[in-house]
Amino acid sequence: KEPPTRKDTSEQLKGALRARLDEITEAFTVDTAKLKAIVDHFVSELTKGLTKEGGNIPMIPTWVADYPTGKETGTYMALDMGGTNLRVAEITLNGARGFDVVQSKYKMDESLKTGNAQQLFSFIAECIGNFMEFYHPDSKDNVSVGFTFSFPCTQPTLNSGILQRWTKGFDITGVEGENVVTLLQNAIDERKINVTVAALINDTTGTVVASNYVDPAMEMGCIYGTGCNAAYYEKVSKIPKLEGKLPAGVTPDDYMIINCEYGAFDNEHVCLPRTKYDIRLDDESPRPKQQTFEKMVSGYTMGELLRFILQELYEEGVVFQGQNVDKLYKEFIVNAEFNAKIELDPWENLMDTEVLFKEELGIETTMDERSFIRRVAELLGTRAARVSMCGVAAMAKKRNITKCHAGADGSVFNKYPHFKTRSAQALAEIFDWEGSPDDYPLKVLPAEDGSGAGAAIIAALSKRRAEQLKK
Ligand code: BGC
Ligand code: MG
Repeated sequence: KEPPTRKDTSEQLKGALRARLDEITEAFTVDTAKLKAIVDHFVSELTKGLTKEGGNIPMIPTWVADYPTGKETGTYMALDMGGTNLRVAEITLNGARGFDVVQSKYKMDESLKTGNAQQLFSFIAECIGNFMEFYHPDSKDNVSVGFTFSFPCTQPTLNSGILQRWTKGFDITGVEGENVVTLLQNAIDERKINVTVAALINDTTGTVVASNYVDPAMEMGCIYGTGCNAAYYEKVSKIPKLEGKLPAGVTPDDYMIINCEYGAFDNEHVCLPRTKYDIRLDDESPRPKQQTFEKMVSGYTMGELLRFILQELYEEGVVFQGQNVDKLYKEFIVNAEFNAKIELDPWENLMDTEVLFKEELGIETTMDERSFIRRVAELLGTRAARVSMCGVAAMAKKRNITKCHAGADGSVFNKYPHFKTRSAQALAEIFDWEGSPDDYPLKVLPAEDGSGAGAAIIAALSKRRAEQLKK
C-alpha cells in the first residue's frame, strides 16, 4: 500500500482537531449514571405501555402465549420480509431443540421500499409462487405460512396486523393503517397460489421463540440491525391492556410475548442524551420525532452521524482542506459497514481507512485526520452498544429477573466490531456487577433464526393449542 500522499496537518489544525475531539467525546460518552437513569425511565415506559390507556412505547400483545417445549415437530413454511431480502423458507422442527431450513432469498429492489402496496405484495406473492413451483410443483394441499414482517403492527389476532407506520426508511404507500395479512392474502389469491397466511410475526417475537426452543433460559429476543427492537415474555396478569379478554385456554398466570416496539422509546425527547448530530439526523429523516431510540443505536444511522461530524469539521476548515468533498454530501454514502471497516483497521497508520476514504469518498486523509476518524467511529460504536443495553436491562427489571438469556440478532449484533464486549460491559455497569462482564448472569447471546424457525415454532404452538382446545 502507498504511504499517505497528503502532507500532515499544521500545528494549528492539529490543535483545532484535538479540541473538537474533546467536545465530541464528551457529547457521545454515556456514563454509568446516565445509563441507569435511562433504564429507570425505560422501565416506567414499558409499564405505561402495557396499561389500557397506553403510553409512548406501543407494547403490542402478540397472542403468542406458550413457551416451546423443544419437542415440537413438523414442517412449516415461513416468509421473512427484512430490509434487503425477501426470504421464503421451509423449516423442519426435529423435536429435539433443533431444526433444518431450506430457503430461497429474493433481492428486494430499492425502488420497492418507496413504491406502492400493490407492487410490494405482488412481488411477495410472486416469490411464494416461485418457491412452491420449485419445491412442491405437484402439491394439492393448502399450505399455511407464517409471515415475519419486521415493522410495528397492531395485532387484533395472531393472523392479522395493522401497520402502524413504516420504519427504517421504508415508505410504501397504501399500507399504513391496513391489515398486511389481507393485502398479502389477496395478492396470493389473485395468483391462484394454494397458500394461506396463518400468522403475522414480528422478527423480535420470532427471535424469542426460536431462541427459547433451543435454550429455555431465553426470555427475550432483541434485534440490533437496521432497526432496533425487542420482545419478551410478560405475565398475562401484568398486561392490563388485555382487559381480561384472554384467548381461549390462556390464564392470568400464563406468559404472553409482548412486542415492545421500543425503537420508539423517548419520542417525546426527555431522556436520551441526543447530540446536535442526532437532532439533525432526526430533522432530516423522512419521519422526524419517530423511532428516537432506534435512531440513536441502529446500524441505519451510525454512518450518517460520522458523515455529519466530518461535514461540520470540513466546513469549519479543520479537515479535508482543498479536497473535493462532494461525496461527503451524499446521504447514506457512509453506513455502519463503513464505520466497521474503520474500527477494524489493524494498521498503526490506519492504511485501510486511508484506502476506504480514497475509494469510497474520493478524499485523501492525513494521519491526524485518520486518528480522529477512528476515535469518532469508536465513540459512535461504543455509544450504540451501551445505550442498546438499556432496553434489555429495563425488560429484566420490569420482569424482576436477575438471571436469564436474551437472544440477539441483526447485522450490528452479529457483525459490528466489539459490539458484544461493549454491550456486556454496559450491562455489568448498569447492575453494579463487580466481576468480569462475561460472568454476569444476564446474558445477551446470539439468537437462532428468529424470522424463519421462530415463525415455524409459532405455527406449531398454535396448532398444539388448537388441538388442546378441541379435547
Ligand atoms: C421495527 C420493528 C422491528 C425492528 C427490527 C423496527 O424499525 O419497528 O418492528 O422489530 O425494526 O427489525
Ligand atoms: Mg431480519
